[in-house]
Amino acid sequence: GPFQVVDVHELLDATLIMLNAKISKQGVRVVTHYDRELPPIPAYAAELNQVWTNLIANAVEAMHGDGTLTITTSLDGDCLAVEIADTGAGIPAEVRPRIFEPFFTTKPVGEGTGLGLDISYRIVVKKHHGDIRVTSAPGDTRFTVVLPLTEAAP
Ligand code: ADP
Ligand code: MG
Repeated sequence: GPFQVVDVHELLDATLIMLNAKISKQGVRVVTHYDRELPPIPAYAAELNQVWTNLIANAVEAMHGDGTLTITTSLDGDCLAVEIADTGAGIPAEVRPRIFEPFFTTKPVGEGTGLGLDISYRIVVKKHHGDIRVTSAPGDTRFTVVLPLTEAAP
Protein backbone atom coordinates (compact mmCIF):
# COMPACT_ATOMS: atom_id res chain seq x y z
CA GLY A 1 0.00 0.00 0.00
CA PRO A 2 1.03 3.64 -0.26
CA PHE A 3 2.89 5.67 2.34
CA GLN A 4 0.24 7.99 3.79
CA VAL A 5 -0.63 9.98 6.87
CA VAL A 6 -2.71 7.79 9.18
CA ASP A 7 -4.43 7.99 12.55
CA VAL A 8 -2.99 5.05 14.48
CA HIS A 9 -6.08 4.91 16.69
CA GLU A 10 -8.30 4.31 13.67
CA LEU A 11 -6.05 1.44 12.60
CA LEU A 12 -6.08 -0.07 16.09
CA ASP A 13 -9.88 0.17 16.32
CA ALA A 14 -10.29 -1.42 12.88
CA THR A 15 -8.06 -4.29 13.96
CA LEU A 16 -10.02 -4.76 17.21
CA ILE A 17 -13.25 -4.96 15.19
CA MET A 18 -11.69 -7.48 12.81
CA LEU A 19 -10.55 -9.64 15.74
CA ASN A 20 -13.76 -9.16 17.75
CA ALA A 21 -15.01 -12.76 17.33
CA LYS A 22 -11.71 -14.21 18.59
CA ILE A 23 -11.54 -11.73 21.47
CA SER A 24 -15.11 -12.16 22.68
CA LYS A 25 -15.17 -15.94 22.24
CA GLN A 26 -12.39 -16.13 24.84
CA GLY A 27 -14.05 -13.61 27.14
CA VAL A 28 -11.13 -11.19 26.92
CA ARG A 29 -11.78 -7.67 28.21
CA VAL A 30 -10.38 -4.86 26.08
CA VAL A 31 -9.18 -1.62 27.64
CA THR A 32 -7.88 1.24 25.50
CA HIS A 33 -5.96 4.25 26.76
CA TYR A 34 -5.57 6.43 23.69
CA ASP A 35 -3.81 9.78 23.78
CA ARG A 36 -6.10 11.59 21.36
CA GLU A 37 -3.71 14.53 21.12
CA LEU A 38 -1.20 12.43 19.19
CA PRO A 39 -0.90 13.53 15.58
CA PRO A 40 -1.46 11.29 12.57
CA ILE A 41 1.81 9.78 11.36
CA PRO A 42 3.28 8.85 7.97
CA ALA A 43 2.98 5.08 7.58
CA TYR A 44 2.01 2.12 5.43
CA ALA A 45 -1.49 1.55 6.84
CA ALA A 46 -2.08 -1.97 5.55
CA GLU A 47 1.27 -3.13 6.85
CA LEU A 48 0.81 -1.52 10.25
CA ASN A 49 -2.54 -3.32 10.47
CA GLN A 50 -0.67 -6.59 10.00
CA VAL A 51 1.48 -5.63 12.99
CA TRP A 52 -1.52 -4.81 15.20
CA THR A 53 -3.28 -7.97 14.07
CA ASN A 54 -0.36 -10.17 15.00
CA LEU A 55 0.43 -8.50 18.33
CA ILE A 56 -3.22 -8.48 19.43
CA ALA A 57 -3.76 -12.10 18.28
CA ASN A 58 -0.61 -13.14 20.16
CA ALA A 59 -1.84 -11.33 23.29
CA VAL A 60 -5.25 -13.00 23.14
CA GLU A 61 -3.73 -16.43 22.44
CA ALA A 62 -1.28 -15.99 25.35
CA MET A 63 -4.24 -15.58 27.75
CA HIS A 64 -5.88 -18.84 26.55
CA GLY A 65 -9.15 -18.04 28.36
CA ASP A 66 -10.22 -14.70 29.73
CA GLY A 67 -7.97 -11.85 30.77
CA THR A 68 -7.38 -8.22 29.94
CA LEU A 69 -5.94 -6.78 26.75
CA THR A 70 -4.77 -3.20 27.26
CA ILE A 71 -3.76 -0.94 24.38
CA THR A 72 -2.07 2.33 25.29
CA THR A 73 -0.79 5.08 23.02
CA SER A 74 1.60 7.77 24.15
CA LEU A 75 4.25 10.21 23.05
CA ASP A 76 7.80 8.89 23.43
CA GLY A 77 10.28 11.59 22.49
CA ASP A 78 9.83 12.21 18.75
CA CYS A 79 7.95 8.93 18.38
CA LEU A 80 4.46 7.58 18.90
CA ALA A 81 4.38 4.49 21.13
CA VAL A 82 1.70 1.79 21.01
CA GLU A 83 1.79 -0.66 23.92
CA ILE A 84 -0.16 -3.91 23.66
CA ALA A 85 -0.32 -5.64 27.03
CA ASP A 86 -1.84 -8.94 28.13
CA THR A 87 -2.37 -10.77 31.40
CA GLY A 88 -1.18 -14.15 30.10
CA ALA A 89 1.49 -16.39 31.60
CA GLY A 90 4.34 -14.44 30.04
CA ILE A 91 7.30 -15.36 27.84
CA PRO A 92 9.64 -17.92 29.44
CA ALA A 93 13.26 -16.73 29.71
CA GLU A 94 14.53 -19.51 27.41
CA VAL A 95 11.94 -18.60 24.75
CA ARG A 96 12.47 -14.82 24.84
CA PRO A 97 15.68 -14.69 22.69
CA ARG A 98 13.98 -16.60 19.86
CA ILE A 99 10.54 -14.99 19.47
CA PHE A 100 11.54 -12.78 16.52
CA GLU A 101 13.09 -15.67 14.56
CA PRO A 102 11.15 -16.72 11.46
CA PHE A 103 9.19 -19.98 12.01
CA PHE A 104 9.78 -19.95 15.78
CA THR A 105 6.55 -20.85 17.54
CA THR A 106 5.55 -22.50 20.80
CA LYS A 107 2.01 -23.12 19.49
CA PRO A 108 0.65 -26.49 18.37
CA VAL A 109 1.13 -27.46 14.71
CA GLY A 110 -1.54 -25.75 12.63
CA GLU A 111 -2.07 -22.93 15.14
CA GLY A 112 1.14 -20.95 14.78
CA THR A 113 3.36 -20.25 11.80
CA GLY A 114 6.01 -18.47 13.83
CA LEU A 115 6.10 -15.72 11.22
CA GLY A 116 4.06 -13.01 12.95
CA LEU A 117 6.84 -11.37 14.95
CA ASP A 118 9.41 -11.77 12.18
CA ILE A 119 7.08 -9.96 9.76
CA SER A 120 6.09 -7.38 12.39
CA TYR A 121 9.73 -6.61 13.15
CA ARG A 122 10.51 -6.10 9.48
CA ILE A 123 7.50 -3.83 8.99
CA VAL A 124 8.25 -1.68 12.04
CA VAL A 125 12.03 -1.55 11.99
CA LYS A 126 12.95 -1.79 8.32
CA LYS A 127 9.96 -0.06 6.70
CA HIS A 128 9.11 2.55 9.35
CA HIS A 129 12.48 3.04 11.09
CA GLY A 130 10.76 2.30 14.39
CA ASP A 131 11.34 -0.29 17.08
CA ILE A 132 9.58 -3.11 18.94
CA ARG A 133 10.36 -3.54 22.64
CA VAL A 134 9.23 -6.40 24.84
CA THR A 135 8.91 -6.80 28.57
CA SER A 136 7.36 -9.86 30.15
CA ALA A 137 6.55 -11.14 33.59
CA PRO A 138 3.89 -13.66 34.59
CA GLY A 139 0.55 -11.87 34.16
CA ASP A 140 2.08 -8.82 32.49
CA THR A 141 3.53 -9.01 28.98
CA ARG A 142 3.96 -5.84 26.95
CA PHE A 143 4.94 -5.35 23.32
CA THR A 144 5.65 -1.70 22.53
CA VAL A 145 5.83 -0.49 18.95
CA VAL A 146 7.59 2.83 18.56
CA LEU A 147 7.04 4.80 15.33
CA PRO A 148 8.67 8.09 14.27
CA LEU A 149 6.21 11.01 14.17
CA THR A 150 7.83 12.34 11.02
CA GLU A 151 9.22 10.58 8.00
CA ALA A 152 12.85 9.58 8.50
CA ALA A 153 15.30 11.25 6.14
CA PRO A 154 16.14 8.94 3.23
P1 ADP B 1 3.06 -17.53 16.31
O1 ADP B 1 2.03 -16.60 16.90
O2 ADP B 1 2.63 -18.10 14.99
O3 ADP B 1 3.54 -18.59 17.28
P2 ADP B 1 4.82 -15.22 16.43
O4 ADP B 1 6.02 -14.88 15.64
O5 ADP B 1 3.67 -14.29 16.37
O6 ADP B 1 4.37 -16.68 15.93
O7 ADP B 1 5.22 -15.46 17.94
C1 ADP B 1 6.32 -16.32 18.24
C2 ADP B 1 6.24 -16.85 19.66
O8 ADP B 1 6.44 -15.78 20.58
C3 ADP B 1 4.89 -17.45 20.08
O9 ADP B 1 4.73 -18.78 19.63
C4 ADP B 1 4.98 -17.36 21.60
O10 ADP B 1 5.78 -18.39 22.12
C5 ADP B 1 5.76 -16.05 21.81
N1 ADP B 1 4.85 -14.92 22.11
C6 ADP B 1 4.49 -13.92 21.28
N2 ADP B 1 3.65 -13.05 21.88
C7 ADP B 1 3.48 -13.51 23.14
C8 ADP B 1 2.73 -13.05 24.28
N3 ADP B 1 1.96 -11.95 24.22
N4 ADP B 1 2.81 -13.78 25.44
C9 ADP B 1 3.58 -14.88 25.50
N5 ADP B 1 4.29 -15.38 24.47
C10 ADP B 1 4.26 -14.70 23.31
MG1 MG C 1 1.61 -14.70 16.08
